[in-house]
Amino acid sequence: MSDDNAAPRVIALANQKGGVGKTTTAINLGTALAAVGKRTLVVDLDPQGNASTGLGVGPRSRERSTYDLITGSASASDVIRATEIPNLWIAPASPDLSGADIDLIDARDRNLRLRAAIDPVGSEFEFILIDCPPALNLLTVNAMVAAGSVLVPLQCEFFALEGLSQLLRTIEMIKKSLNQKLTIQGIVLTMYDKRNNLSAQVAEDVRGTLGDLVYQTVIPRNVRLSEAPSHAVPALVYDQNCAGSQAYIRLAGEMLRREGVALAA
Ligand code: ATP
Ligand code: MG
Repeated sequence: MSDDNAAPRVIALANQKGGVGKTTTAINLGTALAAVGKRTLVVDLDPQGNASTGLGVGPRSRERSTYDLITGSASASDVIRATEIPNLWIAPASPDLSGADIDLIDARDRNLRLRAAIDPVGSEFEFILIDCPPALNLLTVNAMVAAGSVLVPLQCEFFALEGLSQLLRTIEMIKKSLNQKLTIQGIVLTMYDKRNNLSAQVAEDVRGTLGDLVYQTVIPRNVRLSEAPSHAVPALVYDQNCAGSQAYIRLAGEMLRREGVALAA
């Protein structure tokens, strides 16, 4: 039996560093969870809208977006759309999200907008993955206030740990002031290149520093993962057997095991 009536696991994918694999992880982890029967919503909170495009919602078909959720001009049920993938929904982004900081400058509840907007639909989903922009701004704070945990994609490169302490401090601050229940879901190493000694060295350093917070599953550098978005489908649909897709299936399995969630739908 699955725990259908329980509150959803709301997970913010955050790292203020750009291009570390937040969106690729949101799309493919979301697809992998959906594939094992978990009703999953991806919330695209990045004005770039890459998660929306990657899940088949192009820029011209985003009349209602997460901008409306943040400004309160539409409800979650108006914004959320089914994707082509069974069990997977998307709340698409739009470029006007980049002005949300300014638009809400006088709003006292500006950090709580996303939480308030998704709360009414929470019981319809088992997982809600929020794809954050590469900044510790109002949008990312909204994601961390709405979330129960933060999943941090970390690229296996020389400066991997740089910036992480600032991210962890931000999580601590939000925990103290706005969301006491916030935890760190885990750190997932991305773009691991097994032919490159540096990747192995970085992975070892990160595990040495952060221990069990780091997922065993490592996402390899895999060209299929980067090709899939141009076909507007997750890598798991584009090429289910590629190393990247298989890694995201393992990541979903590891996450569900960590959370003690039954795999069977
Ligand atoms: P941003 O901070 O701009 O939102 P991001 O953290 O969401 O970026 P992605 O968009 O997921 O990062 O990835 C950055 C680029 O790297 C994209 O072109 C993506 O297709 C590619 N990419 C992501 N993960 C991998 C991987 N494991 N192997 C190869 N390419 C990858
Ligand atoms: Mg992104």
